[in-house]
Amino acid sequence: MQINIHAPYKDRVQQALGDSNLRAAVSKATDRMTDARLAAMGAIEGQTLRAQVRQMKEHVLRQWPDYLLQLEMNLRRNGCIVHWAEGIADAQEIVKDIALQNGADLVVKSKSMATEEIHLNQALEEAGLRVVETDLGEYIIQLADEPPSHIVAPVIHKRLEEIAEVFEEKLDMPPTREASKMTALARAKLRREFFDAGMGISGCNFAIAETGTICIVTNEGNGRMVSSMPRVYVAVMGIEKIVPTVEDAFLQLQALCRSATGQQLTVYCSMTSGPRQAGDADGPEQVHVVLLDNGRSGMLARGYGEALLCIRCGACLNVCPVYQEIGGHAYGGVYNGPIGAVISPALAPEIARFKELPHATSLCGACREACPVQIDLPRLLLDLRSDLVEQGAAPKLEGWGIKGYARVMSSRRMYEKLGKLASISSNLYANLSGGNIQFLPPPLSGWTAYRDFAPFAPKSFREWWRERKLQ
Ligand code: SF4
Repeated sequence: MQINIHAPYKDRVQQALGDSNLRAAVSKATDRMTDARLAAMGAIEGQTLRAQVRQMKEHVLRQWPDYLLQLEMNLRRNGCIVHWAEGIADAQEIVKDIALQNGADLVVKSKSMATEEIHLNQALEEAGLRVVETDLGEYIIQLADEPPSHIVAPVIHKRLEEIAEVFEEKLDMPPTREASKMTALARAKLRREFFDAGMGISGCNFAIAETGTICIVTNEGNGRMVSSMPRVYVAVMGIEKIVPTVEDAFLQLQALCRSATGQQLTVYCSMTSGPRQAGDADGPEQVHVVLLDNGRSGMLARGYGEALLCIRCGACLNVCPVYQEIGGHAYGGVYNGPIGAVISPALAPEIARFKELPHATSLCGACREACPVQIDLPRLLLDLRSDLVEQGAAPKLEGWGIKGYARVMSSRRMYEKLGKLASISSNLYANLSGGNIQFLPPPLSGWTAYRDFAPFAPKSFREWWRERKLQ
């Protein structure tokens, strides 16, 4: 079943919860990735690595403008053409112009969340270009006409049988359930596209400021093909993806590979420091780098800078009990899981657009424990909730409820009296309904729609303690 990402949040969640195939596929894959991450991080001084990566990323953010200028200067010195894009429309226009000026009617792409964020495929297709995703997972969801549902594993929500159906329908493949046969077919089709493409586009896992180098990591080699085979190569990078030095790049690479897929190193790490030089056997004639802000500087200004430390490894998604149940599409944005619940509203001009996401969490803290950059995601989610209340974007009832709660909690007498009242009335109601409370009137009906409400304890802890001491 395909989830309608434009449906209201509650409907999306309902659709996801009703899809047992999706839940089984997501749960199996995320458990596997978590086991691999734990083993890979456990094989080294994982905590030390996490602390070092965080320190380096924090240092970059403190000197962000300096490193950006250094990166720009070195990219230009290497012969790259640098473009600054403030928002989605600018970035789309820049990439579209490069393609049209170079007469590229076929574009091959490597997996990139930044280009998902700016809806680049759609913009290029509207301009008459053909865009082909070349990461196997992205290729499958492009054929299925679906967005990615995981930062690292875009097709995590589909089972082998469902992927086979897509191949049969879209590629006329004879029925098979053998993954190797499907992969071989995709490989053959994509090989032709690499040869014919006039332009390649990728994201950027990190850019090295001191050398002006764009780095992309893949396991399939498609990133290298995209960045070296077509005549024109465009890298779209979020402006937070900077590391100061080559040593820092390898530090981040360790944390990224181990946390994302549990590998010591991905199969390919492709580094581009400029276009083909005289005498080079291959490489693109033009290299363009689009430095994309799209709300990132605003995030720092609004107090969400910690989320800019994210290296997009996906570890927080894999351990999140909410993501494991509903998968990625139910989040409704490009980014999903705990980090998506933070950056979708924080990147948006209006956080109210994603007002449900800061509540799509159990605040259990598993994401913080898994994060290789030690990002305090639960705190950021609480900050977003608080901002939603301050901006008047949270339901009025929630604001009144929290004010009432604060009032009760600041008066012992009121707390005890209301506690007694709640205990008597809930126990009476439970007795009348023969056990637990199965129905509460709105606005509390949301609770009893899915579970019983247990009546309050007949005695408060304080009463129980007092009686115990008197015995
Ligand atoms: S928040 Fe941390 S765990 Fe989640 S994707 Fe970013 S770096 Fe990975």
